[in-house]
Amino acid sequence: MKILVLGAGIGGLGASIALRQQGFDVDLVEIKPELAVYGVGINQPGNSLRALRALGVLDEIRAVGFEYDHTDFYDADGELIVHVPCTLGGDGVPANTALSRLNLHRILISAAERHDVKIRYGGTMEQFSDNGRAVDVSFTDGRRESYDLVAAFDGIKSATRRAVFGPEHDPVYSGFGVFRVTLPRPPYVDGVRVYQALGVKAGYIPLSATTMYMFVVTPDPPGVTHRREDFVRILRSRMAPFGALPGEVRDALQPMDDIVFSPISDVLLPLPWFSGRIGILGDAAHACAPHLTQGAGMALEDGIVLAETLAGGGSLEERLRAFGERRFPRARLVQDVSHGILQAEMSINADNYDASVQGMRDHQVEQAHAVEAILNAPA
Ligand SMILES: Cc1cc2nc3c(=O)[nH]c(=O)nc-3n(C[C@H](O)[C@H](O)[C@H](O)COP(=O)(O)OP(=O)(O)OC[C@H]3O[C@@H](n4cnc5c(N)ncnc54)[C@H](O)[C@@H]3O)c2cc1C
Repeated sequence: MKILVLGAGIGGLGASIALRQQGFDVDLVEIKPELAVYGVGINQPGNSLRALRALGVLDEIRAVGFEYDHTDFYDADGELIVHVPCTLGGDGVPANTALSRLNLHRILISAAERHDVKIRYGGTMEQFSDNGRAVDVSFTDGRRESYDLVAAFDGIKSATRRAVFGPEHDPVYSGFGVFRVTLPRPPYVDGVRVYQALGVKAGYIPLSATTMYMFVVTPDPPGVTHRREDFVRILRSRMAPFGALPGEVRDALQPMDDIVFSPISDVLLPLPWFSGRIGILGDAAHACAPHLTQGAGMALEDGIVLAETLAGGGSLEERLRAFGERRFPRARLVQDVSHGILQAEMSINADNYDASVQGMRDHQVEQAHAVEAILNAPA
Protein backbone atom coordinates (compact mmCIF):
# COMPACT_ATOMS: atom_id res chain seq x y z
CA MET A 1 0.00 0.00 0.00
CA LYS A 2 1.08 3.56 -0.66
CA ILE A 3 -0.02 5.84 2.17
CA LEU A 4 -0.05 9.62 2.54
CA VAL A 5 0.42 10.84 6.12
CA LEU A 6 -0.50 14.50 6.62
CA GLY A 7 1.28 16.38 9.42
CA ALA A 8 4.78 15.75 10.78
CA GLY A 9 3.77 16.25 14.41
CA ILE A 10 4.32 13.52 16.98
CA GLY A 11 1.43 11.44 15.65
CA GLY A 12 2.29 11.75 11.94
CA LEU A 13 5.96 10.97 12.52
CA GLY A 14 5.12 7.98 14.74
CA ALA A 15 2.57 6.64 12.25
CA SER A 16 5.01 7.00 9.35
CA ILE A 17 7.66 4.99 11.20
CA ALA A 18 5.14 2.31 12.23
CA LEU A 19 3.77 2.03 8.66
CA ARG A 20 7.30 1.69 7.25
CA GLN A 21 8.04 -1.00 9.88
CA GLN A 22 5.12 -2.96 8.38
CA GLY A 23 6.53 -2.47 4.87
CA PHE A 24 4.15 0.20 3.56
CA ASP A 25 5.29 2.98 1.25
CA VAL A 26 4.84 6.35 3.04
CA ASP A 27 4.83 10.01 1.98
CA LEU A 28 4.75 12.44 4.92
CA VAL A 29 3.69 16.02 4.17
CA GLU A 30 4.05 18.89 6.66
CA ILE A 31 2.55 22.31 6.05
CA LYS A 32 5.23 24.21 7.98
CA PRO A 33 8.41 24.98 6.07
CA GLU A 34 10.64 23.40 8.75
CA LEU A 35 10.67 21.76 12.15
CA ALA A 36 8.92 24.27 14.43
CA VAL A 37 7.87 23.16 17.91
CA TYR A 38 7.56 25.13 21.14
CA GLY A 39 10.67 25.06 23.31
CA VAL A 40 8.69 23.68 26.26
CA GLY A 41 8.58 20.21 27.76
CA ILE A 42 6.42 17.17 27.29
CA ASN A 43 5.88 14.20 29.56
CA GLN A 44 5.73 10.72 28.11
CA PRO A 45 3.94 8.29 30.45
CA GLY A 46 4.65 4.54 30.46
CA ASN A 47 2.18 3.57 27.73
CA SER A 48 3.54 6.28 25.44
CA LEU A 49 7.08 5.10 26.19
CA ARG A 50 5.99 1.59 25.22
CA ALA A 51 4.80 3.02 21.88
CA LEU A 52 8.15 4.80 21.49
CA ARG A 53 9.91 1.49 22.24
CA ALA A 54 7.88 -0.16 19.46
CA LEU A 55 9.14 2.61 17.14
CA GLY A 56 12.73 1.80 18.21
CA VAL A 57 13.52 5.13 19.92
CA LEU A 58 13.03 4.46 23.65
CA ASP A 59 16.77 4.40 24.46
CA GLU A 60 17.29 7.76 22.75
CA ILE A 61 14.34 9.24 24.67
CA ARG A 62 15.65 7.90 27.98
CA ALA A 63 19.13 9.28 27.25
CA VAL A 64 17.87 12.87 27.02
CA GLY A 65 14.84 12.79 29.36
CA PHE A 66 14.18 12.81 33.09
CA GLU A 67 12.53 9.73 34.60
CA TYR A 68 10.19 9.98 37.55
CA ASP A 69 7.53 7.90 39.26
CA HIS A 70 5.20 10.07 41.34
CA THR A 71 3.03 13.18 41.53
CA ASP A 72 2.72 15.21 44.74
CA PHE A 73 -0.25 17.51 45.26
CA TYR A 74 0.20 20.55 47.54
CA ASP A 75 -1.92 23.43 48.71
CA ALA A 76 -1.08 26.98 47.60
CA ASP A 77 1.45 27.37 50.43
CA GLY A 78 3.26 24.10 49.86
CA GLU A 79 1.62 21.79 52.40
CA LEU A 80 1.43 18.26 51.02
CA ILE A 81 -2.14 17.08 50.29
CA VAL A 82 -1.42 13.66 48.77
CA HIS A 83 1.47 11.67 47.30
CA VAL A 84 0.44 9.60 44.25
CA PRO A 85 2.92 6.93 43.11
CA CYS A 86 2.63 6.15 39.39
CA THR A 87 1.92 2.54 38.41
CA LEU A 88 2.53 2.92 34.66
CA GLY A 89 5.48 1.27 32.89
CA GLY A 90 7.29 -1.93 33.89
CA ASP A 91 9.26 -4.48 31.79
CA GLY A 92 12.11 -2.03 31.23
CA VAL A 93 9.78 0.90 30.57
CA PRO A 94 9.88 3.81 33.10
CA ALA A 95 6.69 5.14 34.69
CA ASN A 96 7.32 8.52 33.03
CA THR A 97 10.05 10.24 31.04
CA ALA A 98 9.78 13.99 30.48
CA LEU A 99 11.89 15.75 27.87
CA SER A 100 11.95 18.85 25.71
CA ARG A 101 9.55 18.78 22.74
CA LEU A 102 12.44 19.71 20.51
CA ASN A 103 14.34 16.57 21.54
CA LEU A 104 11.28 14.36 21.05
CA HIS A 105 10.73 15.78 17.56
CA ARG A 106 14.37 15.47 16.54
CA ILE A 107 14.46 11.84 17.68
CA LEU A 108 11.28 10.99 15.75
CA ILE A 109 12.44 12.81 12.60
CA SER A 110 15.78 10.94 12.65
CA ALA A 111 13.95 7.63 13.08
CA ALA A 112 11.57 8.48 10.22
CA GLU A 113 14.53 9.30 7.98
CA ARG A 114 16.26 6.03 8.96
CA HIS A 115 13.08 4.23 7.89
CA ASP A 116 13.15 5.98 4.52
CA VAL A 117 10.01 8.05 5.09
CA LYS A 118 9.85 10.74 2.42
CA ILE A 119 9.17 13.97 4.38
CA ARG A 120 8.10 17.06 2.43
CA TYR A 121 7.91 20.38 4.30
CA GLY A 122 6.14 23.60 3.33
CA GLY A 123 3.14 22.18 1.46
CA THR A 124 -0.08 20.29 1.88
CA MET A 125 -2.91 18.45 0.21
CA GLU A 126 -4.94 20.99 -1.76
CA GLN A 127 -7.63 18.82 -3.30
CA PHE A 128 -8.48 15.17 -2.97
CA SER A 129 -11.01 12.75 -4.33
CA ASP A 130 -11.62 9.20 -3.19
CA ASN A 131 -12.74 7.18 -6.22
CA GLY A 132 -13.25 3.99 -4.17
CA ARG A 133 -10.04 2.34 -5.43
CA ALA A 134 -7.59 5.14 -4.50
CA VAL A 135 -7.40 8.75 -3.34
CA ASP A 136 -6.23 11.17 -6.02
CA VAL A 137 -4.42 14.05 -4.36
CA SER A 138 -3.17 17.34 -5.74
CA PHE A 139 -0.66 19.23 -3.60
CA THR A 140 -0.04 22.95 -3.14
CA ASP A 141 3.25 22.61 -5.07
CA GLY A 142 1.35 21.33 -8.13
CA ARG A 143 2.27 17.63 -7.77
CA ARG A 144 -0.43 14.98 -8.20
CA GLU A 145 -0.28 11.50 -6.68
CA SER A 146 -2.59 8.59 -6.09
CA TYR A 147 -2.66 6.87 -2.67
CA ASP A 148 -4.29 3.74 -1.29
CA LEU A 149 -4.90 5.56 1.97
CA VAL A 150 -4.64 9.06 3.50
CA ALA A 151 -4.03 9.32 7.27
CA ALA A 152 -4.49 12.91 8.46
CA PHE A 153 -2.59 13.71 11.65
CA ASP A 154 -2.99 17.44 11.02
CA GLY A 155 -3.67 18.46 14.62
CA ILE A 156 -6.48 19.99 16.64
CA LYS A 157 -7.44 22.49 13.89
CA SER A 158 -7.39 19.75 11.21
CA ALA A 159 -8.49 21.10 7.83
CA THR A 160 -8.94 17.51 6.66
CA ARG A 161 -11.44 16.76 9.46
CA ARG A 162 -13.42 19.84 8.47
CA ALA A 163 -13.34 18.95 4.77
CA VAL A 164 -14.35 15.31 5.34
CA PHE A 165 -16.66 15.44 8.37
CA GLY A 166 -17.75 19.10 8.53
CA PRO A 167 -17.40 22.01 10.98
CA GLU A 168 -19.63 20.35 13.60
CA HIS A 169 -16.52 18.57 14.92
CA ASP A 170 -14.45 21.73 15.35
CA PRO A 171 -12.63 22.06 18.73
CA VAL A 172 -14.78 22.97 21.74
CA TYR A 173 -13.09 25.49 24.04
CA SER A 174 -13.09 24.51 27.73
CA GLY A 175 -13.03 28.04 29.14
CA PHE A 176 -9.51 27.48 30.53
CA GLY A 177 -6.02 28.17 29.26
CA VAL A 178 -2.51 27.14 30.25
CA PHE A 179 0.75 29.07 30.41
CA ARG A 180 3.98 27.05 30.06
CA VAL A 181 7.62 27.93 30.48
CA THR A 182 10.92 26.06 30.96
CA LEU A 183 12.87 27.07 34.07
CA PRO A 184 15.91 26.02 36.14
CA ARG A 185 15.10 22.94 38.26
CA PRO A 186 15.67 22.94 42.02
CA PRO A 187 17.03 19.46 42.96
CA TYR A 188 13.95 18.63 45.09
CA VAL A 189 11.70 18.72 41.98
CA ASP A 190 12.27 15.03 41.21
CA GLY A 191 8.66 14.18 40.30
CA VAL A 192 5.58 16.18 39.32
CA ARG A 193 4.52 18.81 41.88
CA VAL A 194 1.05 20.30 41.58
CA TYR A 195 0.02 23.30 43.71
CA GLN A 196 -3.71 23.99 43.98
CA ALA A 197 -5.12 27.43 44.79
CA LEU A 198 -8.66 28.73 44.28
CA GLY A 199 -9.24 29.01 40.52
CA VAL A 200 -5.60 28.46 39.58
CA LYS A 201 -3.25 25.49 39.51
CA ALA A 202 0.54 25.55 39.06
CA GLY A 203 2.53 22.42 38.25
CA TYR A 204 6.19 21.48 37.74
CA ILE A 205 7.64 18.59 35.75
CA PRO A 206 11.39 17.78 35.86
CA LEU A 207 12.83 17.76 32.33
CA SER A 208 16.58 17.28 32.75
CA ALA A 209 19.38 17.51 35.31
CA THR A 210 19.06 21.30 35.16
CA THR A 211 15.58 22.19 33.84
CA MET A 212 11.92 21.78 34.72
CA TYR A 213 8.75 22.86 33.04
CA MET A 214 6.00 24.90 34.71
CA PHE A 215 2.34 24.89 33.67
CA VAL A 216 -0.26 27.24 35.11
CA VAL A 217 -3.95 26.56 34.41
CA THR A 218 -6.53 29.34 34.89
CA PRO A 219 -9.93 30.40 33.51
CA ASP A 220 -9.80 32.47 30.32
CA PRO A 221 -12.97 33.80 28.65
CA PRO A 222 -13.62 32.51 25.11
CA GLY A 223 -12.14 34.63 22.34
CA VAL A 224 -9.59 36.38 24.58
CA THR A 225 -6.12 36.63 23.06
CA HIS A 226 -3.08 37.65 25.06
CA ARG A 227 -0.22 39.63 23.58
CA ARG A 228 3.15 37.93 23.98
CA GLU A 229 4.63 41.05 25.62
CA ASP A 230 1.93 40.82 28.34
CA PHE A 231 2.58 37.14 29.20
CA VAL A 232 4.89 37.80 32.19
CA ARG A 233 2.57 40.39 33.71
CA ILE A 234 -0.51 38.19 33.26
CA LEU A 235 1.24 35.10 34.58
CA ARG A 236 2.53 36.95 37.64
CA SER A 237 -0.96 38.21 38.45
CA ARG A 238 -2.57 34.78 37.92
CA MET A 239 0.03 33.25 40.27
CA ALA A 240 -0.64 35.84 42.99
CA PRO A 241 -2.28 33.38 45.43
CA PHE A 242 0.80 31.15 45.72
CA GLY A 243 3.62 30.87 48.25
CA ALA A 244 6.22 28.05 48.24
CA LEU A 245 7.79 27.05 44.89
CA PRO A 246 5.20 28.81 42.66
CA GLY A 247 5.60 32.00 44.71
CA GLU A 248 9.39 31.89 44.28
CA VAL A 249 9.05 31.22 40.55
CA ARG A 250 6.52 34.04 40.13
CA ASP A 251 8.79 36.54 41.84
CA ALA A 252 11.76 35.50 39.67
CA LEU A 253 9.91 35.55 36.29
CA GLN A 254 11.78 37.64 33.72
CA PRO A 255 10.32 39.47 30.69
CA MET A 256 12.65 37.45 28.42
CA ASP A 257 11.39 34.08 29.65
CA ASP A 258 10.05 32.09 26.71
CA ILE A 259 6.44 31.72 27.87
CA VAL A 260 3.82 29.91 25.77
CA PHE A 261 0.04 30.26 26.20
CA SER A 262 -2.43 27.65 24.91
CA PRO A 263 -6.22 27.55 25.20
CA ILE A 264 -7.48 24.11 26.29
CA SER A 265 -10.00 22.60 23.86
CA ASP A 266 -11.43 19.17 23.13
CA VAL A 267 -12.17 17.46 19.83
CA LEU A 268 -14.23 14.30 19.86
CA LEU A 269 -14.81 12.90 16.44
CA PRO A 270 -17.30 10.03 16.72
CA LEU A 271 -16.65 6.81 14.78
CA PRO A 272 -16.03 6.17 11.97
CA TRP A 273 -12.72 8.03 11.83
CA PHE A 274 -12.30 6.91 8.21
CA SER A 275 -14.56 8.02 5.42
CA GLY A 276 -13.67 5.62 2.63
CA ARG A 277 -9.88 5.75 2.33
CA ILE A 278 -9.36 9.03 4.24
CA GLY A 279 -8.86 8.94 8.01
CA ILE A 280 -8.57 11.47 10.84
CA LEU A 281 -6.24 10.52 13.69
CA GLY A 282 -4.26 11.89 16.66
CA ASP A 283 -5.31 15.29 18.01
CA ALA A 284 -7.34 15.85 14.85
CA ALA A 285 -9.74 13.15 16.11
CA HIS A 286 -9.39 13.32 19.90
CA ALA A 287 -7.50 16.39 21.22
CA CYS A 288 -8.03 16.70 24.94
CA ALA A 289 -7.04 18.63 28.08
CA PRO A 290 -3.38 17.92 28.92
CA HIS A 291 -4.03 16.72 32.48
CA LEU A 292 -3.02 13.07 32.01
CA THR A 293 -0.15 14.03 29.64
CA GLN A 294 -1.57 11.38 27.28
CA GLY A 295 -2.15 13.34 24.03
CA ALA A 296 1.07 12.33 22.30
CA GLY A 297 0.76 8.77 23.58
CA MET A 298 -2.75 8.47 22.12
CA ALA A 299 -1.50 9.83 18.76
CA LEU A 300 1.50 7.45 18.76
CA GLU A 301 -0.70 4.49 19.66
CA ASP A 302 -3.09 5.44 16.82
CA GLY A 303 -0.24 5.16 14.31
CA ILE A 304 1.07 1.86 15.64
CA VAL A 305 -2.37 0.27 15.85
CA LEU A 306 -3.24 1.54 12.35
CA ALA A 307 -0.08 -0.04 10.92
CA GLU A 308 -0.74 -3.33 12.75
CA THR A 309 -4.38 -3.41 11.64
CA LEU A 310 -3.56 -2.63 8.01
CA ALA A 311 -0.99 -5.44 8.01
CA GLY A 312 -3.68 -7.89 9.25
CA GLY A 313 -6.36 -9.75 7.29
CA GLY A 314 -9.84 -8.86 6.01
CA SER A 315 -11.09 -6.27 3.56
CA LEU A 316 -9.73 -2.72 3.84
CA GLU A 317 -13.13 -1.56 5.09
CA GLU A 318 -13.14 -4.21 7.85
CA ARG A 319 -9.58 -3.35 8.87
CA LEU A 320 -10.33 0.37 9.11
CA ARG A 321 -13.49 -0.31 11.12
CA ALA A 322 -11.54 -2.60 13.48
CA PHE A 323 -8.92 0.14 13.90
CA GLY A 324 -11.53 2.70 15.00
CA GLU A 325 -13.26 0.28 17.34
CA ARG A 326 -9.95 -0.57 19.01
CA ARG A 327 -8.85 3.06 19.44
CA PHE A 328 -12.05 4.97 20.25
CA PRO A 329 -12.73 3.71 23.81
CA ARG A 330 -9.16 4.39 24.93
CA ALA A 331 -9.05 7.89 23.43
CA ARG A 332 -12.48 8.60 24.92
CA LEU A 333 -11.38 7.46 28.39
CA VAL A 334 -8.34 9.75 28.30
CA GLN A 335 -10.48 12.64 27.13
CA ASP A 336 -13.23 12.14 29.72
CA VAL A 337 -10.82 11.74 32.63
CA SER A 338 -8.65 14.70 31.55
CA HIS A 339 -11.70 16.93 31.13
CA GLY A 340 -13.10 15.74 34.48
CA ILE A 341 -9.87 16.65 36.31
CA LEU A 342 -9.79 20.08 34.66
CA GLN A 343 -13.39 20.83 35.66
CA ALA A 344 -12.90 19.52 39.21
CA GLU A 345 -9.72 21.50 39.94
CA MET A 346 -11.09 24.70 38.43
CA SER A 347 -14.35 24.50 40.38
CA ILE A 348 -12.62 24.47 43.77
CA ASN A 349 -13.79 27.57 45.65
CA ALA A 350 -13.73 28.92 49.19
CA ASP A 351 -16.96 27.05 50.04
CA ASN A 352 -15.92 23.60 48.86
CA TYR A 353 -12.15 23.85 49.43
CA ASP A 354 -11.90 21.68 52.59
CA ALA A 355 -14.16 18.97 51.15
CA SER A 356 -12.23 19.01 47.85
CA VAL A 357 -8.87 18.59 49.61
CA GLN A 358 -10.29 15.78 51.74
CA GLY A 359 -11.63 14.16 48.56
CA MET A 360 -8.15 14.30 47.04
CA ARG A 361 -6.64 12.69 50.16
CA ASP A 362 -9.28 9.96 50.21
CA HIS A 363 -9.60 9.11 46.50
CA GLN A 364 -6.78 10.49 44.32
CA VAL A 365 -4.47 7.47 44.59
CA GLU A 366 -7.22 4.94 43.93
CA GLN A 367 -8.63 6.93 40.97
CA ALA A 368 -5.23 7.47 39.37
CA HIS A 369 -4.36 3.78 39.66
CA ALA A 370 -7.68 2.68 38.16
CA VAL A 371 -7.03 4.77 35.01
CA GLU A 372 -3.37 3.72 34.87
CA ALA A 373 -4.34 0.03 35.01
CA ILE A 374 -6.31 0.50 31.78
CA LEU A 375 -3.65 2.62 30.06
CA ASN A 376 -0.88 0.20 31.03
CA ALA A 377 -2.71 -2.65 29.29
CA PRO A 378 -1.83 -3.14 25.59
CA ALA A 379 -3.22 -0.47 23.29
C1 LIG B 1 -0.67 22.76 27.09
C2 LIG B 1 -0.48 21.39 26.53
C3 LIG B 1 0.38 20.50 27.19
C4 LIG B 1 0.52 19.20 26.69
N1 LIG B 1 1.34 18.34 27.37
C5 LIG B 1 1.47 17.08 26.92
C6 LIG B 1 2.30 16.15 27.60
O1 LIG B 1 2.99 16.48 28.57
N2 LIG B 1 2.35 14.87 27.12
C7 LIG B 1 1.64 14.48 26.03
O2 LIG B 1 1.72 13.32 25.63
N3 LIG B 1 0.85 15.34 25.35
C8 LIG B 1 0.76 16.62 25.77
N4 LIG B 1 -0.01 17.50 25.08
C9 LIG B 1 -0.76 17.02 23.89
C10 LIG B 1 0.15 16.76 22.70
O3 LIG B 1 0.98 17.87 22.42
C11 LIG B 1 -0.69 16.42 21.49
O4 LIG B 1 -1.68 15.48 21.85
C12 LIG B 1 0.14 15.84 20.38
O5 LIG B 1 1.09 16.78 19.96
C13 LIG B 1 -0.76 15.42 19.22
O6 LIG B 1 0.02 15.05 18.12
P1 LIG B 1 -0.56 15.18 16.64
O7 LIG B 1 0.55 14.72 15.77
O8 LIG B 1 -1.87 14.50 16.56
O9 LIG B 1 -0.83 16.72 16.43
P2 LIG B 1 0.20 17.93 16.40
O10 LIG B 1 1.33 17.69 17.33
O11 LIG B 1 -0.60 19.17 16.56
O12 LIG B 1 0.81 17.91 14.92
C14 LIG B 1 0.05 18.28 13.80
C15 LIG B 1 1.02 18.60 12.68
O13 LIG B 1 0.29 18.75 11.47
C16 LIG B 1 0.75 19.90 10.79
N5 LIG B 1 -0.34 20.36 9.93
C17 LIG B 1 -1.43 21.08 10.26
N6 LIG B 1 -2.22 21.24 9.19
C18 LIG B 1 -1.64 20.59 8.16
C19 LIG B 1 -1.98 20.38 6.81
N7 LIG B 1 -3.13 20.86 6.30
N8 LIG B 1 -1.14 19.65 6.04
C20 LIG B 1 0.02 19.17 6.53
N9 LIG B 1 0.40 19.34 7.81
C21 LIG B 1 -0.44 20.02 8.62
C22 LIG B 1 1.13 20.86 11.90
O14 LIG B 1 2.01 21.87 11.45
C23 LIG B 1 1.78 19.90 12.89
O15 LIG B 1 3.14 19.70 12.62
C24 LIG B 1 -0.18 18.80 25.53
C25 LIG B 1 -1.00 19.69 24.86
C26 LIG B 1 -1.14 20.99 25.35
C27 LIG B 1 -2.06 21.94 24.62
